Amino acid sequence: MGVDLIQQTEVTDLVVEDGGIVGVETQQYGVIKADKVGCVVAGNSGVLAGMAGFRLPLESHPLQALVSETIAPILDTVVMSNAVHGYVSQSDKGDLVIGAGIDGYNGYGQRGSYPTIEHTLQAIVELFPIFSRVRMNRQWGGIVDTCPDACPILSKTPVENLYFNCGWGTGGFKATPGSGNVFAHSLAKGEMHPLAAPFSIDRFHTGALVDEHGAAGVAH
Ligand SMILES: Cc1cc2nc3c(=O)[nH]c(=O)nc-3n(C[C@H](O)[C@H](O)[C@H](O)COP(=O)(O)OP(=O)(O)OC[C@H]3O[C@@H](n4cnc5c(N)ncnc54)[C@H](O)[C@@H]3O)c2cc1C
Repeated sequence: MGVDLIQQTEVTDLVVEDGGIVGVETQQYGVIKADKVGCVVAGNSGVLAGMAGFRLPLESHPLQALVSETIAPILDTVVMSNAVHGYVSQSDKGDLVIGAGIDGYNGYGQRGSYPTIEHTLQAIVELFPIFSRVRMNRQWGGIVDTCPDACPILSKTPVENLYFNCGWGTGGFKATPGSGNVFAHSLAKGEMHPLAAPFSIDRFHTGALVDEHGAAGVAH
């Protein structure tokens, strides 16, 4: 269908001429020209917006997850608590998959801090004292892009034909098929899909925010 997927290639600059996007500059292949560009880079959205000369109302934070050693089947559902702030489930292999909220500071380091790990495990032990002796096997952090109203941005930008799909914060997996579909539609038509329209960046000027803080499963 004429689609070329280029993997492991960093976009190092967005090429803007006369207020419109004309291409992207890449590390390996130099400038790739384009009539339209859609950016879906999550925690790095602010960096790419900066390349195009504008700012997004986003904060990038580390969000951590932990996986324990394997134990016999004991938990057959996901348990999430807003009171002590943590969630836990058990995979088919037997390891516990554990997480909680974002690390409070802004940053791009993909590891997170020890106080958040400690707080997360305190919450899990509060819920299930029986897990107090389970050892953690590994931990990692990804960078999530959080918006002030806890809703994503699917939008045109001040640069003509440059679109952003970002701000999914801690809840972007589950939205991926729908968000990809309406974003592709919007780029193809040059007008935002009706489902995407309320998530325009303009809402931060008009004040028509879509406040979804209460719908997030955890308090952040
Ligand atoms: C620990 C953790 C747990 C999570 N748990 C959940 C959960 O339970 N449920 C849920 O719904 N969501 C969860 N999320 C959030 C979810 O992972 C994200 O919202 C989702 O992955 C965002 O999808 P995306 O396609 O927008 O961005 P990503 O999946 O982050 O993809 C963005 C891509 O852009 C690339 N990129 C960045 N900069 C550049 C550049 N300059 N040039 C080229 N490429 C670039 C990155 O390498 C990356 O591959 C979790 C996130 C973390 C970190």
